[in-house]
Amino acid sequence: MADKKKMVIIDPGHGGIDPGCETKDKNGKWVYERDIVWAVAKKIKDKLDAAEAQSLVKAVISLEEMYPGYDYTKVSKRPSLRNRVYVPWQKYHEEFDIKLSLSLHCDAAESAAAQDATIFYSEDSDLQLAERFLNDYAEKVIVDGVQVFFGHRKPPVVERENLSVLNAAEFKGIDGVLLELGFLTSSDDFQFLIRADVQDLIAEVLNNTIIELYGEKV
Ligand SMILES: [Zn+2]
Repeated sequence: MADKKKMVIIDPGHGGIDPGCETKDKNGKWVYERDIVWAVAKKIKDKLDAAEAQSLVKAVISLEEMYPGYDYTKVSKRPSLRNRVYVPWQKYHEEFDIKLSLSLHCDAAESAAAQDATIFYSEDSDLQLAERFLNDYAEKVIVDGVQVFFGHRKPPVVERENLSVLNAAEFKGIDGVLLELGFLTSSDDFQFLIRADVQDLIAEVLNNTIIELYGEKV
């Protein structure tokens, strides 16, 4: 039997009436976590689609599979957390070898001093994988990205935590990690994460990590 093509689920952690955390930009316009994680998820999928022939990894976006024709600003139901994994799994597991569910979020905290990335994972067996995503993100986005876009070097403060929100992925035998890209309540992180060129960089880095982890030829 020929090996199945691999698939990864990119999961923008919020959408529709569930905007996630929110903050105002310098013109007083509200910016939602939903908007940032959607932009990054789309960019990752675009990159993986472009690389698909070489890498043999197919990407789907959880919310697009749950709501065909999905408009991330308009869905009036709160998307179920479990279905972010179960719906794509149900549709594709016979045809594809589903390897990873990568959830994207932005953090918020009472203190404006809290900043940088956090990774969550649910099983000890996902620790190495979670560290790989976190290290790539910290090094290539937080440290190198701030250097490129803001001209100063910044030591990353990154954390990893074990959390059971990922048990839908665990239940289906899929690797599961949840990456918090930064804190919208930190003005440094916020100014960084709303930039389209930074979102491009984030997508590039996560795309490369996914390809290096899962994209070997079958
Ligand atoms: Zn969130």
